[in-house]
Amino acid sequence: MLNMTTNFYVPPSAVRGQRVVLPEEETHHLQSVLRAQAGDEIVVVDGEGGWHRLRIDHLGSDQVVGTIQETRQDVGEPDVHVTVGMGLLTKRSRFETFVEKAVELGVGRIVPLHTRHTEPETLRRERVRNVMIAALKQCRRSRLPALAEPQSLDAVLDATAADVRLLCDGAPDRPPLSQAVGELEAAAQVLVLVGPEGGFAPKEVEGAEAAGCTPVSLGPRRLRAETAGLAAVNAVMLSRARQQGAA
Ligand code: SAM
Repeated sequence: MLNMTTNFYVPPSAVRGQRVVLPEEETHHLQSVLRAQAGDEIVVVDGEGGWHRLRIDHLGSDQVVGTIQETRQDVGEPDVHVTVGMGLLTKRSRFETFVEKAVELGVGRIVPLHTRHTEPETLRRERVRNVMIAALKQCRRSRLPALAEPQSLDAVLDATAADVRLLCDGAPDRPPLSQAVGELEAAAQVLVLVGPEGGFAPKEVEGAEAAGCTPVSLGPRRLRAETAGLAAVNAVMLSRARQQGAA
């Protein structure tokens, strides 16, 4: 196998039986950057849990064709599905940083939130999707997290099934997230809510509590929203007794 630092992404439609045709973007990387040759092996993931070790048969100018040598499912995936509802941030780059790292940490679904204190529309969907695909390949997981349309807090609370619902809140009297570890260990689905730069409005916190959310603290320091989101996702992941192995 080539000494690959990243996996390659192909849409599921590119896998036809044992044959895989890599899209143009990946072809360029393989040919011009990595100088791959027929007979080399690479790993491709389809974003839906499919992981394939591939032998390259043919490198053309606009496509690379390979044959599957081994297939696995859900390599690098956690055993808990975490949805993060994240307040849209004034600086797009901060939201994108959050998305990149959240994919690495194993998040299952990202919901950009419109809240009382968010700017109207700061999401570039196509760009965020590309960030997600790059992170998926780099961190060697096999499922591309879902990216929901921006929506209200009420909408995400109504539409998200979860065994545990946590709202990150920097108010001084909140219990630490670590107190929820017992519940988290057994949960299949978790919802984590994080406010934008201006935080959640008190009425939003009340509404979320009425919808079954527990406000939790991430410690005595006021974190930037993207830091808070990543700290919370990581705490949920680390609460799990068992995680699926990497490849
Ligand atoms: N001025 C805002 C306030 O007082 O709520 C600060 C908001 S903070 C920059 C953005 C979001 O990150 C908050 O709404 C909260 O969800 C989360 N957050 C930041 N620090 C936190 C902490 N120590 N514990 C829990 N959540 C925190």
